[in-house]
Amino acid sequence: MVEILRTKAELRARVAEWKTAGDRVGVVPTMGALHQGHLSLVSAAGEACDRVIVTIFVNPKQFNTPEDLENYPRTEEDDARKLAGYPADVIYVPDPDQIYPDGFATNVSISGLTEVLCGAHRPGHFDGVATVVTKLFTQTCADMAFFGEKDFQQLQVVKRLAADLDLMIEVVGCPTIREEDGLAMSSRNLLLSDRSRIKAPVLNEVMEEMAEGLRQGGQASDLRAKAESRLNAAGFGEVEYIDLRACDDLSVLETPERPARLLAAVWLAGVRLIDNIAV
Ligand code: AMP
Repeated sequence: MVEILRTKAELRARVAEWKTAGDRVGVVPTMGALHQGHLSLVSAAGEACDRVIVTIFVNPKQFNTPEDLENYPRTEEDDARKLAGYPADVIYVPDPDQIYPDGFATNVSISGLTEVLCGAHRPGHFDGVATVVTKLFTQTCADMAFFGEKDFQQLQVVKRLAADLDLMIEVVGCPTIREEDGLAMSSRNLLLSDRSRIKAPVLNEVMEEMAEGLRQGGQASDLRAKAESRLNAAGFGEVEYIDLRACDDLSVLETPERPARLLAAVWLAGVRLIDNIAV
């Protein structure tokens, strides 16, 4: 089994040994309930680095409601078992006071990028992400950090954060891993009922169709209306957004005149699903 550390003192001691030996350290931040998406990040970290830390911390600051935090899957033992076949040297599962000690009063907030898409629908979410990621970067002293394109906006936010604060870490984005039917892997998929799980891949199908329409010269606003009605007909609830955005600054586009991404967040029977694809 991979070693589990729960305090920053133990983690720092281990990382100090590695750094003395000249090892390059990678970190893969997660909230656990690990699946092949997370494990692909661990493999990427193993290829680029000598040592890999996987962090598991269900970060209360990035949840918008107590129910969502409560319902989030927690599967630490399974997670540790899954990591056994991967190049992880340490699993860092910090006790909450290691991240948020008594009196904790700092908030890391990024403007612009966090005000759109998920940021507009989940107030405070990206402040929570940025704050915990900053702490995990400084606690692990990693040289490289691996994040999934699955959370495309989060990846852009973390890159901005690392650049703006001169954090000595290279942020690497890795491709989205999908189920065979196209559904993007997510810990939240565990919350889908059997019936919803069957409907869920329609999101990716609709996005691929919309991306094809855009490639053929269609306008995002026309194609969005069609996509929304297909999703509603398939039994999805609220479509928070299904937007064409510029990759670098996430500004709204009508056509993919520069590198662009189609991003969506939709509700399916009480579960919020997000996905994004290159156009
Ligand atoms: P989470 O545990 O959901 O906070 O995710 C931890 C990391 O895994 C983030 O960098 C996610 O973007 C990444 N991730 C989650 N799902 C996938 C996926 N299907 N493919 C690739 N990376 C993913």
